[in-house]
Amino acid sequence: MTTTPHTAALAEGATDGLERCPIMPTYGPPSVQFVRGSGAELFDAHGNRYLDFLSGLAVTSLGHSHPAIAEAVTEQLGRLQHVSNLYATEHNGAVATMIDTAIGDGSPAGGQVFFCNSGAESNEAAIKLARRFGGHGRHNVVCAFQSFHGRTLATLHATGQPAKWETFQPLPEGFRHAVWNDLADIERQLDETVAAVFLEPVQGEGGVNPATIEFFQGVRALCDERGILFMVDEVQTGLGRTGRWFGFQHFGVTPDVVTMAKALGNGMPIGACWARADVAASFQPGDHATTYGGQPLATSAARAVLETMRAIDAPTLAASAGQRLTDALMASPVVDEVRGLGLLLAVELRGADARLVSAELLRRGLVTNGVTPTALRLAPPLIITDEHIAEAVAMITEVTTELAEAS
Ligand SMILES: *Cc1c(COP(=O)(O)O)cnc(C)c1O
Repeated sequence: MTTTPHTAALAEGATDGLERCPIMPTYGPPSVQFVRGSGAELFDAHGNRYLDFLSGLAVTSLGHSHPAIAEAVTEQLGRLQHVSNLYATEHNGAVATMIDTAIGDGSPAGGQVFFCNSGAESNEAAIKLARRFGGHGRHNVVCAFQSFHGRTLATLHATGQPAKWETFQPLPEGFRHAVWNDLADIERQLDETVAAVFLEPVQGEGGVNPATIEFFQGVRALCDERGILFMVDEVQTGLGRTGRWFGFQHFGVTPDVVTMAKALGNGMPIGACWARADVAASFQPGDHATTYGGQPLATSAARAVLETMRAIDAPTLAASAGQRLTDALMASPVVDEVRGLGLLLAVELRGADARLVSAELLRRGLVTNGVTPTALRLAPPLIITDEHIAEAVAMITEVTTELAEAS
């Protein structure tokens, strides 16, 4: 374990003055440039090692540079790089079938898949599908406050964070918001213009807030009563991270539409929108499309990801490592609360600003995210070891203690 500050980590010219930086300032200035990764470790241009407890925001669930994925993509790259979706390619049927089986928790769920390139796009597909299913006049989608569904104009309006809307008004119509985990407030939003309710099983960007069982089961029952779709955004929670294949499986409900992306390609850009077959059948040829959706490089990666996750039983790994990480954190004197599911956790820190703690942890070689002013978000790869857990918890304790004493 290194505690040397990783200073001067940026490569020459990366951000040497705003005038010369070629990158738009949609993110704050980066303090580190990573050049290599392996498993749970990252390395900067100066050879400093970092332990990755963020996984590119729940993307590299199998760790960096996973050999099975590197091999699958490299082989595909040398054989066939791209054809139009007017034609079939080799992996997309297999990947869609594996997604359907994961949705069914090991047996076929009987749905169909639309492939795209990101989380926001998978949600756009779900929103369009809901409108197509609902028909004219029945187009509204009920989302939750504090949710996050993406940054395109429609998914930004689905995102229940009004502060993010203001600069970009007018936003596409058709979204309503209810208080998180408040079934009565969801019910108040429902009328004959509503096509779907759209929720995350654990609000990731909103601070790692898990749904309650009663909330998800109540929403399912309301949707059934009224013939409304229950759509679940599993972009961050999907594919093993919460300790189940999908977050909704913790709550004993089956949604009608499920979106996913992040972990599906382990870093190769790919998203997917799954829907019950009779709902999927509302889409007709020409209703929706994307050039790259389901193209061979992306699906070769997704196939290797899903095969590897099955072989190692990734959900069970996440559940047990998540429990060990939670226990270790709860034993730390600087931790007030740990919430989340599996390996998607928020840690409430005692006495120090989580964003300052996260910045200092990065300097010392641990990658985390300050998800609220008081909480760190941890999303390590699902293959994390007990040694890595002990190392990370020791660093979090050390840095939080130092910053709490200094404040
Ligand atoms: C990250 C995220 C998105 C957006 O995904 P992009 O690939 O960044 O477009 C949507 N929903 C949830 C829950 C997410 O965590």
